[in-house]
Amino acid sequence: MTQTANILVVGSLNMDLVVQVAHLPAPGETILGRDFHTIPGGKGANQAVAAARLGAQVAIVGRVGQDAFGKQLMENLRQEGVETTFVSVDESAPSGIATITLDEQGQNSIVVASGANLHLSAEEVRRAGQNLTDCRVMVSQLEIPLECVIEAAKQAKLRKVPFILNPAPAQVLPAELLAMVDILVPNESEAALLTGLPVFSLKDAEAAGRTLHKLGASAVIITMGANGALLSRAGWEALHLPAYQVNVVDTTAAGDAFVAGLAVGLVEGLPLEKAACWGNAAGAIAVTRLGAQPAMPTREEIQALLGTPR
Ligand code: ADP
Repeated sequence: MTQTANILVVGSLNMDLVVQVAHLPAPGETILGRDFHTIPGGKGANQAVAAARLGAQVAIVGRVGQDAFGKQLMENLRQEGVETTFVSVDESAPSGIATITLDEQGQNSIVVASGANLHLSAEEVRRAGQNLTDCRVMVSQLEIPLECVIEAAKQAKLRKVPFILNPAPAQVLPAELLAMVDILVPNESEAALLTGLPVFSLKDAEAAGRTLHKLGASAVIITMGANGALLSRAGWEALHLPAYQVNVVDTTAAGDAFVAGLAVGLVEGLPLEKAACWGNAAGAIAVTRLGAQPAMPTREEIQALLGTPR
């Protein structure tokens, strides 16, 4: 069935099981947590919801289980205006979940049980790519099988639209995939894993960017948490986008908000550096609120922040 959307996100849907704690437990330690929250998440769904809140027409390709979490995840996407035609229901695997422990400084530790996400097939990605009209940007991450990510990149090439890869969670990637990435958006630790270089300072990030260009990614944006982001393009001087000063509550999904802001900026025809500013603003707003999808900014919030000096 044909669907219309400007952004196709190929990625995961997870239910986040979140407990707030005074400090993250050490190995072997048991601590009493505070409130427990069940919050829709998953990198793919987070990025889809964020892009929809920013005003884009978004479709997602993914897979959930035949369970209550799967129903809630789909329902939430629909409420947020994300097209779910390309989300399939797995008959045997449970919906993906993430257990998230969150401390008072907003730092988190996360364990993901991928479940149905790992049963998504390249064929489903191909079908979605072929049946989507007006697609202008494709986006993926690494919480689904790699063959699905590679198929997403191939579909983007076929349609001649930019392919954004957020290589999270970090894993080594085949050269075939990196060569098809138009904009790679790793955080510092993902950039370090992909390059084998330490990435702590801006200088480190510039060096990692150069290495990633050699590996095939034509543009790289390394997100650096409270240090903002570094945009590196092959043959251009790197550009640092300082972070907005905000009150940090929960850093979960900051990277997802960044990717969504970037994708929406590109769909609207902004040059890469301006689209990256949308990402930077979206990430900053996301860290001021608890949770993944509920924390995603609206278009009005981004516009208000972009108007303020850093
Ligand atoms: P990830 O969540 O993938 O680890 P980062 O922590 O690098 O990603 O955050 C992504 C983006 O979110 C940053 O590039 C920045 O734009 C924004 N951000 C993250 N942490 C902060 C912060 N403390 N203050 C302001 N912006 C932030």
